[in-house]
Amino acid sequence: MPELRQNMVTKDWVIISTERARRPEEFRQTGDRTADILPAYDPKCPFCPGNEHMSEEVMRVPSEDGGWRLRVVKNRFPALVPKGERVREVDGLRRRLTGIGHHEVLIESPIHNTCPALETEEEMVTVLDTFQSRGRALREDPRLEHIIYFKNHGVRAGSSLPHPHGQLISLPVVPHNTRARNDEARRYFDDHGTCVVCEMLDAERSSGERIIAENEHFVALIPYAAYSPFHMWILPKIHRSSFLEAPAAELQDLGALMRNVLRRLYFGLGDPDYNYVIRSAPLRDDRSAHQHWYVSVVPRVSQAAGFELGTGMFINSALPETSAAFMRDTDPQL
Ligand SMILES: [Zn+2]
Ligand SMILES: [Zn+2]
Repeated sequence: MPELRQNMVTKDWVIISTERARRPEEFRQTGDRTADILPAYDPKCPFCPGNEHMSEEVMRVPSEDGGWRLRVVKNRFPALVPKGERVREVDGLRRRLTGIGHHEVLIESPIHNTCPALETEEEMVTVLDTFQSRGRALREDPRLEHIIYFKNHGVRAGSSLPHPHGQLISLPVVPHNTRARNDEARRYFDDHGTCVVCEMLDAERSSGERIIAENEHFVALIPYAAYSPFHMWILPKIHRSSFLEAPAAELQDLGALMRNVLRRLYFGLGDPDYNYVIRSAPLRDDRSAHQHWYVSVVPRVSQAAGFELGTGMFINSALPETSAAFMRDTDPQL
């Protein structure tokens, strides 16, 4: 019989196809890997070296040969813009706010056809460091309430340019989804006196069933009520509510574990498209005892459809325990 499972951190219910679940190998992608079909350099790509004039640069990490290892540029088609006042208007049922915020693109390598799984650990850590330093700079802006950091890898994950890049968007509001999770975490803390994610980490580590890999500061696992096949969480062992508060040693470990997990995904499932998101507490609430920051990795190996749209619930056609075992047994070829 199928089973409904509740994610205790988000309170979302998920339908898990326990008996008719697809085997992990069935999610393996059959197409060519990005790295094999694209050139290492594309003269028409706005993110490739030589085309720096095509974007407005915010900062760069220089390379020893006088070029760059990473650049942060302004999005050419930003969702929100940095200039302007934060003006909120309420007119009956219509509530609106000026569209201020930042939309930056983090070009993670000068190489056109690479991706985090193929980059070095140092490159992965540089990406995280840069996200953090941009976040720390932007949080000083009193108009802002929240920042999200993410990457879309591949067309099914919403990427429009193949050149490897991450993005950062700062917002003048806290998204409802973030607020709802925050409320749940606060309620759990009020009832139990502990952080729900810290509790989950303890339970998962003692069972071990859904753990993929871990190092000194982080654990990568597939949640008990994962929304979709191979949906992974990478959780800091030390409780902090904000990614911006994580010290360098922790980012180093996060970079190592993210690369490890993304390599397992790359070799185990044939480079599926995916999104990763760094979920950190709202800026004005960044030292709370009940919120716990983490990274979510969502491979796009199945399609959400009408049911998900209509209910906000998900149907996961893979058993989290089986997916975790598959990922655990896949050699990351480090
Ligand atoms: Zn390029
Ligand atoms: Zn915690």
